[in-house]
Order: sequence, then structure tokens, then C-alpha cells
Amino acid sequence: MVKRRKLGVPVTPKPERPRCGAKTRAGGRCKAPAVWNRRNDEVRNGRCRMHGGLSTGPRTEEGLRRTLEALRAGRARWLAKRAANSKY
Ligand SMILES: [Zn+2]
Repeated sequence: MVKRRKLGVPVTPKPERPRCGAKTRAGGRCKAPAVWNRRNDEVRNGRCRMHGGLSTGPRTEEGLRRTLEALRAGRARWLAKRAANSKY
């Protein structure tokens, strides 16, 4: 039996796919193409493979909870630091 590639819907060619656009250390924007979901012919999450395009985000309730907790804690630290700096 000869193996054949499954013929699906044609996917958008690479040059026409949206760029990642993440902020780079050089001050520009990332020009790499976003990670592509070939099955649905769409971007996975809009970022390239170096900038979180392969990330699935939290997969469990526990993971989501920890993520939001860290987000809140980080913001609280940031606010405290900001308040301390503005007082002189
Ligand atoms: Zn990127």
C-alpha cells in the first residue's frame, strides 16, 4: 500500500500568514510567522514558536488558578514598588 498525504483544505501560504509581532530586545517587532494550526488553517495564538506560540496556556483548573494567583501577586508587588518610589 502506498502512503499518501491526506488531501485537506489548502492552507494559507507562509508569506500570507500573520507575523508574530512580539517586542524584541533590539526594539523592533518579531517578524517570524505565528505558529500555524494546519488542520483549521488559522493561527494557534498569534505568536511564533519563540514567543509562546507553542504554549497551550494552563491545561488544568489548578494551573489556571496558579497563573491568576501569580498575576495578582505580581501586580500587587508592582503597585507597592510604584507607590514606594513616588513618595521620595
Ligand atoms: Zn516571535
